[in-house]
Amino acid sequence: MHDLGEEELASLKIALSSSILTTGEGVAEFERNFAKLLCCDYALGVTSCTGALHMALLALEVGPGDEVITTPMTFIATATAIMCVGAKPVLVDVEPNTGNIDPNNIEKAISSKTKAIMPVHLYGQMCDMIALRKIADKFNLKLIEDSAHCVEGERDGVRPGQLSDAACFSFYATKNLTCGEGGAVITNSDELYKKMKLLRLHGMTKTAYDREKNGYEHWDMVELGWKYNMDNIQAAILIPQLKRLHRKLELRHALASYYENNIKDIQGVNLFDVLPNTVHARHLFPIKVTKCNRDYFLKKMQEKGINCVVNYRPIHLLKYFKLNLGYKVGDFPVAENIGEQVISLPFYPGMGEEKSREVINTIRSIVNNI
Ligand SMILES: *Cc1c(COP(=O)(O)O)cnc(C)c1O
Repeated sequence: MHDLGEEELASLKIALSSSILTTGEGVAEFERNFAKLLCCDYALGVTSCTGALHMALLALEVGPGDEVITTPMTFIATATAIMCVGAKPVLVDVEPNTGNIDPNNIEKAISSKTKAIMPVHLYGQMCDMIALRKIADKFNLKLIEDSAHCVEGERDGVRPGQLSDAACFSFYATKNLTCGEGGAVITNSDELYKKMKLLRLHGMTKTAYDREKNGYEHWDMVELGWKYNMDNIQAAILIPQLKRLHRKLELRHALASYYENNIKDIQGVNLFDVLPNTVHARHLFPIKVTKCNRDYFLKKMQEKGINCVVNYRPIHLLKYFKLNLGYKVGDFPVAENIGEQVISLPFYPGMGEEKSREVINTIRSIVNNI
């Protein structure tokens, strides 16, 4: 559940009274603020995280014949972005305690075709970027973070974008920071930034914003690009939220603590670990059900009016990836095990005590009646 309201309406009103609705000063302001928040040199506002991942791969020249190592425990877009540039996602199994890609499984999946690693900071807890950076250096691989779950996170003093070539974010409706649909990519590379800026808008050397500022000048097309530019309306919805992010994260942590304290003693309902030295961005609150069949548990929760979802059933068992990548049941047992047990509880900053108590009581009553 989002918390957009008066501040966003006021910001939108200003955006709508400006002559430029597409990419302009609003987007530039968002990009400056977002880069600052992440302590990164450059940010580019785009229309989705999927587009950001696609663009980062294109800009890093990952293409047909190449392989990219990633995780089966993610949303499909991580892998489809890789396939959209003509490369092949090579999946490796995850850590049982976090669900994140297990760095120990990566080296044996590296071949002469491997070009990049694409980790996903699952549920908002960062992967071991220090370990991943070492592997990337050793094998001369690019490193692109799918940080759709993790704007606010940190691990061992490292934040998204700091040890990779690029980190990609989603502002999709359910994400911690949202404008309905949107995304961003951050990087510390001047060269990569310039390339992605071109790819974001048809490979054109001038934009509507330039035209507004300087009057019409002839432009050229120098790259085969895409149409991934964020507009000022999206930026206007995002900007006011940046200063609420910290406070909202505190509320997320308080809610997570409440859930954890009440769930840890329930037999047959297990939690993921939160690692030491980590700021968890707490995008989702997943539990693992072992007391009974997860789908039975999910159905019971739904019957009692508690809306839960599953993040995720591992992608290698979805029809398209099975057919096109040749994966089968048993290939990634840790991810498959999580995929059979995991369920995300209702989880958003404004949820309130009554609702969270109801969630806990419902879990207890289902488990006690098995
Ligand atoms: C939401 C999500 C995406 C896709 O984000 P969009 O902005 O909808 O393209 C990619 N990866 C993960 C892990 C996600 O959760």
